[in-house]
Amino acid sequence: MMENCSACCICKTALFLHSSLDLALTLHRHQFPFGRRLPCDIYWHGVSFHDSNIFSGQVNKFPGMMETVRKITLSRAMRTMQDLFPLEYNFYPRSWILPEELPLFVAEVRMMKDSNPSWKPTFIVKPDGGCQGDGIYLIKDPSDIRLTGSIQIRPAVVQEYICKPLLVDKMKFDIRLYVLLKSLEPLEIYIAKDGLSRFCTEPYQEPTLKNLHQVFMHLTNYSLNIHSGNFIHSDSVNTGSKRTFSSILCRLSSRGADVKKLWSDIISLVIKTIIALTPELKVYYQSDIPAGKPGPTCFQILGFDILLMKNLKPVLLEVNANPSMRIEHEQELSPGVFENVPSPVDEEVKVAVIRDTLRLVDPQKKKRKDTQCPSAEAASEEPPEAAPGAEAALPSLCLKQVFPKYAKQFSYLRLVDRVAALFIRFLGVRGTTKLGPTGFRTFIRNCKLSNSNFSMAAVDILYIDITRRWNSMGIDHKDSGMCLQAFVEAFFCLAQKKYKSRPLHEQVASLVELCECRLAALHGKRLLWGCGLGQRHGALPATATAPSPPRPRHQQVFGLQKPPQLRALVCRDAAGS
Ligand code: ADP
Repeated sequence: MMENCSACCICKTALFLHSSLDLALTLHRHQFPFGRRLPCDIYWHGVSFHDSNIFSGQVNKFPGMMETVRKITLSRAMRTMQDLFPLEYNFYPRSWILPEELPLFVAEVRMMKDSNPSWKPTFIVKPDGGCQGDGIYLIKDPSDIRLTGSIQIRPAVVQEYICKPLLVDKMKFDIRLYVLLKSLEPLEIYIAKDGLSRFCTEPYQEPTLKNLHQVFMHLTNYSLNIHSGNFIHSDSVNTGSKRTFSSILCRLSSRGADVKKLWSDIISLVIKTIIALTPELKVYYQSDIPAGKPGPTCFQILGFDILLMKNLKPVLLEVNANPSMRIEHEQELSPGVFENVPSPVDEEVKVAVIRDTLRLVDPQKKKRKDTQCPSAEAASEEPPEAAPGAEAALPSLCLKQVFPKYAKQFSYLRLVDRVAALFIRFLGVRGTTKLGPTGFRTFIRNCKLSNSNFSMAAVDILYIDITRRWNSMGIDHKDSGMCLQAFVEAFFCLAQKKYKSRPLHEQVASLVELCECRLAALHGKRLLWGCGLGQRHGALPATATAPSPPRPRHQQVFGLQKPPQLRALVCRDAAGS
């Protein structure tokens, strides 16, 4: 379905946009509030990807992004990465998922308190799917979790509360950074050089039973603090309750803080978070943009909410799939009379983000690049070229490419991506996001993971156990079967069984390699078998013909990359037979 709110398109280098973005654009746009008839180059949707009638061009949303960044799903993805790489992912607060992890939460807190009696923690409870601080509250003890109705707990994430945030003018504040996910495969990430700092409106004090309920002291949400009598609208970007992040950096720098290191930590946090999200996004992508059918490509602007600790360590609070792009705010002129007035801080940051996103996804530029450069990954190493004419007159890009620019440092973290590639390979039916029992059996059989200690009956039990548990706590009841996260759990289980007493990431990496290797060998054998048949029927020699079986598009896009030594292995097999 076409988003009926504020959908717009750029038709043949004309574009269609949200009214609040108008300032950012000089391009020609069309609005289609009642549905669109003509194909467009860029589709700018208000909320989500969905529009079954798009077969080409680019859409400003990825399928499944909203689901992937929900509080519970994000926490699960971060937990998986924390299990694999605890040090690399320590920028996300320790979290538990309610209601299913309540007993675990209670037990872990009790254990930590027993081992360190001086530990006086605070936790923050955030309802799943909530936004703008809605329903959030702080607690000192697990027994303070609120129940809805008589005994039920609303699905939520309970998280360690960061008690010592960095303060500016005695106030807590957070950072909203804009990140462009320009492409999923190859992965391309850009970060805006400036963001927003959103301030609380009551001076901060560490949480005590007395001040736990003071939202203007503990929650930095603009939507909450705007209602405080202390909220200051300022025309300057470095004063008031909403400022540019660069103004904070200037201030920190003048106090001698290592601002370069802070930026590099923030870039790391963003890249690692997106690496945690990509496996799930790829599953949604192959499901919504079916293999072999014409479809659009996607890009998306994300809002990263980051808190700085007193020691300047950045902490991820959440990722927003639909960050507000408003460049005006409501002002109460007289009691009860409101008017929208321009907000210079929002304008300064957001206009540049939209303008540069459009410059980066410009279809004409893409065509030029495609004809000049054979490899997309290589092409994106280069800074975006200046286009002739109008674009040359625009300011320099505010969006800085961070991936693949820094890909080498982070590639070892993309382990779950490879597990997801295996999952996608065995999904079978197009348009699904869940693996059936036959798909799981085929995966085990093709990767030769079953043996006398792990029979096919045990495989079925593993499938049923894990799938049932995940489906009982899942929010997505659309398809039956094993979701990616359940598959990842099963995969970790198999890896631990096979490669005992090694760190988890090594166990998983070894099993991924083994599976990739066995599938590549199987694929090689199938190729040879195909060639043999061809020769018997008098076709061209095998070396010349060896036609690859037509691979589904998801395999072409996210399929396993055959490392050079595997290619050698397949060739040796070929020579031997
Ligand atoms: P929402 O989507 O409702 O805005 P957030 O996760 O962004 O939910 O939380 C709202 C606010 O609560 C944040 O802007 C921040 O000020 C505060 N907050 C959230 N998590 C933490 C945390 N772990 N420690 C300290 N403050 C937090």
